[in-house]
Formats: sequence, structure tokens, C-alpha cells
Amino acid sequence: MTFKTRFAPSPTGPLHLGHAYSAILAHDLAASRNGQFLLRIEDIDRSRSRPHWEEQIYDDLNWLGLSWAEPVMRQSERPHIYNQALDQLWSQGLLYPCTCNRRDIAAAVSAPQEGAPLLGPDGIVYPGTCRKRTDRTGSRPQDVPLRMDMAAAGQKLLGEAKATKTVGAFHESGAGPNGEAGTIEFTLSDLTDTIGDVVLSRRDMGTSYHLSVVLDDAAQGITHVVRGQDLFEATRIHVVLQALLGLATPHYIHHELIRDESGKRLAKRDDARAVAKYRNDGASPSDIRAMVGL
Ligand code: GLU
Ligand code: ZN
Repeated sequence: MTFKTRFAPSPTGPLHLGHAYSAILAHDLAASRNGQFLLRIEDIDRSRSRPHWEEQIYDDLNWLGLSWAEPVMRQSERPHIYNQALDQLWSQGLLYPCTCNRRDIAAAVSAPQEGAPLLGPDGIVYPGTCRKRTDRTGSRPQDVPLRMDMAAAGQKLLGEAKATKTVGAFHESGAGPNGEAGTIEFTLSDLTDTIGDVVLSRRDMGTSYHLSVVLDDAAQGITHVVRGQDLFEATRIHVVLQALLGLATPHYIHHELIRDESGKRLAKRDDARAVAKYRNDGASPSDIRAMVGL
């Protein structure tokens, strides 16, 4: 099996130093293993994605001296794949429609008996308001957000193997934010208590980051996912989806985030750290490598 890594930016702003770091790591790792480095444009958010940002991604990566194996995958060209997977999960009874907005969720968790709301990878852990409200029979409802019933999903994966409490596991060859490394196992209650029922299909996108990333990494044959530690917690969601959809789990290499002088992680809006800005100011690709410690 060819060793494959990828870089999967969203074309919603300029690449900044954090992106450069991630892309260079993934590229160099593939090169060192005689493997392939692939590119994927994560443009499911049509309201924020722009063709000129996509162009600039190619331009910046070329300038950095990175080359990738063609073809580039673009998420906007794959709605049929996402729909198929949603149908599959729906027919397993694992999805339900939910139109709760942030406010509804905040109100539901601020009831006095609830204690402090728990934060998961997607924000406040969904309190499950709509879980029992809607019928899961018939065909999959369209144009409505769908959540995954995490308890039902976890139960399904546990199946007969009730003796073991581990629902899933992945191999971490980098490190999580608290130094987690090696085999990372998780239980049903880890899923229900610290992640909850995540949204798998958003109204405008007809999919979500979690669903797409899993299907696309599988379709591109990625063996080693290199990405920031901010996605470490979400990896458990991805492992659950891989198991439910019959896909292999790649190895994960979560890396540290590049931070600004005040210790804040760089955001897309942080144009001051855009690769293009340094480039216009006369920096060389090796200056960029040096700036991110490579
Ligand atoms: N598109 C995601 C981002 O730009 C990357 C997701 C991933 O690497 O899994 O943050
Ligand atoms: Zn709801």
C-alpha cells in the first residue's frame, strides 16, 4: 500500500503560517517514505469558499516548492458520495433531523439542574432535545440538518462484544494536545458525554466536515492523516464514521499549532501571517520553513 498523506485546506481565506507548516510536514513525510502527497480542496461551505482563494492555494503551495499527485479532489464535486453515505446511516436508524440553533441549545443546557455545559469538538455537547422527537422511518428527509445519535452508533459498534468497553481506537503517531500518543481508545460514554450527537448534514451543505473528511480520506486512499491538534478530539467521530461505513481507519499524526506571539492560534482572518504577505515582503520559501521551525 502506497504511503499517502494529504493537505486539505478550505478556500475561505489566505494560507497562513499554520497551513504552511501542516502542508510542509505532510509533504515531507510522504517524500521521506517514498509515498504520495495529495491535495484536497475542502469547499463544502459554498457561502465562504471563493475561486480566487483556491487559486491562491495552488500558487502558494507551488511557491513553497510543494508538488502533489493529481488529481486534486474538490469536495464540491462529491455531493452524490455524501448523499449515499447519509442514506446508509439513515437506513441504519442512526440519524435524526434537528433544527435547534445555537440559542436553543444554549437555553436547553442552561437549565439549573444541568450544571456547566460540556464543550465537545463542535462546541456545546448537544443535549439531545430532538433525539426522541422525530420519526426515523421512511426515506431520509432532505433540506434539514441531520444529527447522528451517538449512543445508538456506539451501541451498534459494540455489537456483540459487550465484554469490552472499547468502542473504537486509532493510532496516533504525533500527539494530542495533552501529549496523547500511541493507541488511543475510547468508550461509549466518552462518545456520548464528551462529543454527543454531532451534525452530519448541514442545511446548506448537505454534508458536514466530519462526514466529508472521512469519505474523502478513504477515497483518496490516505494512509497517514497529518493535521493540527485542534482536530484531535474530532478524530473519535471520524473513527466511528469509518467503522459504520466500512472504511479503514488511517494513522493520525496531529501536530502542534503555530501560534502568534501572544500564544493565540492563527486564524484564517489573520492575514498578517498569510504566506502571500511574507512572500510579497521578500521572504523565501526557506524563510517560511524557518519561521515554523522546519
Ligand atoms: N479543511 C480543514 C481545515 O482547513 C482541514 C481538515 C483536516 O485536515 O482534517 O482546517
Ligand atoms: Zn434539535
